[in-house]
Amino acid sequence: ERLPEQSSIPFYKKQIRIALRNCGKIDPENINEYIASDGYMALARVLTEMTPEEVIDAVKRSGLRGRGGGGFPTGLKWEATRKSKSDVKYIICNADEGDPGAFMDRSILEGDPHSVLEGMAIAGYAIGAQFGYIYVRAEYPLAIHRLRIAISQAREMGLLGKNILGTNFSFDVEIKIGAGAFICGEETALINSIEGGRGEPTVKPPYPAQVGLWKKPTNINNVETFANVPPIILNGAEWFSSIGTEKSKGTKVFALAGKVNNVGLVEVPMGITLREIIYDLGGGIKGGKKFKAVQTGGPSGGCIPAEHLDTPIDYDTLNALGSMMGSGGMIVMDEDDCMVNIAKFYLEFSCDESCGRCTACRVGNKRMLEILNKITEGKGEMEDLEMLKELAETVKDSSLCGLGQTSPNPVLSTMKFFYDEYLAHVKDKSCPAGVCTELLKY
Ligand code: SF4
Repeated sequence: ERLPEQSSIPFYKKQIRIALRNCGKIDPENINEYIASDGYMALARVLTEMTPEEVIDAVKRSGLRGRGGGGFPTGLKWEATRKSKSDVKYIICNADEGDPGAFMDRSILEGDPHSVLEGMAIAGYAIGAQFGYIYVRAEYPLAIHRLRIAISQAREMGLLGKNILGTNFSFDVEIKIGAGAFICGEETALINSIEGGRGEPTVKPPYPAQVGLWKKPTNINNVETFANVPPIILNGAEWFSSIGTEKSKGTKVFALAGKVNNVGLVEVPMGITLREIIYDLGGGIKGGKKFKAVQTGGPSGGCIPAEHLDTPIDYDTLNALGSMMGSGGMIVMDEDDCMVNIAKFYLEFSCDESCGRCTACRVGNKRMLEILNKITEGKGEMEDLEMLKELAETVKDSSLCGLGQTSPNPVLSTMKFFYDEYLAHVKDKSCPAGVCTELLKY
C-alpha cells in the first residue's frame, strides 16, 4: 500500500498528504518528474482496465466529497452527468478560489498541476466528455503559467489530445481566466462567465449535470477534488475510505492562518480535532495568548469557540456548529480579537462580492452591515440586536445562491457564541478586546 509517509516534525506529524502529495517534492514544470512519481498511471489504468462505470463506482465507494465547500459526493455527481443524454459533455475545474486567507488550490496548481489535469481526464473518461475548462482567477499568474506548461507537455506526450495513450479516448483542456469576482466560484455563475455572460448564479434545477456549459451536461469539481482522484484509482477506494470519518472520507487541505505560531497549508485526515490542528500542528497561539475562536469556511463559515476545540472536524460536525468546511480557510483568533468586528469584516466582504441579483442578499446584507457599524461605533441599541438576528435569518432563508445563504453565518455564529461581546458594545459602550475603543465615543 502506498500510504503517505508521516514526518516527525510537529507541523507535519499528523498530516497525511494526498492532494498535496507532490507539492514541494517535484518540479511542477517537468512532466517527467510527475510521471516518475506514478503520474498518469491512474489515467493509463482507467483507459486500459476499467469501464467508465467502474471508475464512477470506485469514486463513489471511496466516499470522496467535493472539496470546494458544498461537500456533495463526487461519484454521484459524475454518475448524474454520465446518465444525462448528450453527444457533447464538459468537465470544468473550478479554480476560482476566493475566500480570504485561503490558498489551497493555488498551491496545488503551482506545485502539482498535472495531478489536476490527470483527475480531469479521468473524470472526462468516466462521464463521456472530451473537453474540459479550468476556470482560474487572474490573480494567480504563477498557477496559470505552470498550468500552461503542464497542458503543453501533456499534449506533447499524448496524455491530452486525440487518442490518449493510443486508445479511443480523446480529451483536451483549455484555461479560462476569471476577472476576480468571488461569485464566479458558484458553479452556475462560473458557467455564465465562461460563456461570456455576467457572472451571476441561475436558479437550480436544472443542475449543471443536466444543463450546464453551452446547455450541455457538465461536471464541475474543484482543484483539490480532482487532485484526489488519481491516488484513489491507483490505491483503491477502500484505501481512501479507510481515512477519515464515517461520512467524510479522506483528507482535507486547510490554509491555517491567523494567530498561530505555525501557519501554512496542512492536509489532515477528516476527523482530526481543531485542537490538534491549532496546537499540535500550529504550535499554539502566538505570544502565549489565549485562544478565542477559529473561523472555518471563510465568509460562508462561522466562528467556533474554545468549548468546541475537541470536536472532530468533518462536513457534518462543522455544519452542526453553524459553520462549514468551505474550501479550507482556517483563521485563528486570540483574546485581542473583537468578535463583533470580525463579523463585520466578513459581512463587508460579502456585501462587496454580492452580485446584486436578489433583494435579500443585496439589501439585507447592507442593512446588517449598517447595524454592525452602529454597534462598533457605540451607537447600538438593544432593538438593533434583535433586528440583526432577524435580518440574518431572512437573508439566509431567502437568498438565491450559496453566497447569500451563508453570508449571515459569521454574524449568527458570533451572536450565538459571543453574545456577551455584543452586549458589552451595546449596553456598556465598551469593546472587551479593546479593538473598537477608538470608535466608542460614549
Ligand atoms: Fe447574487 Fe447574493 Fe443572490 Fe447569490 S444570493 S444570486 S450573490 S444577490
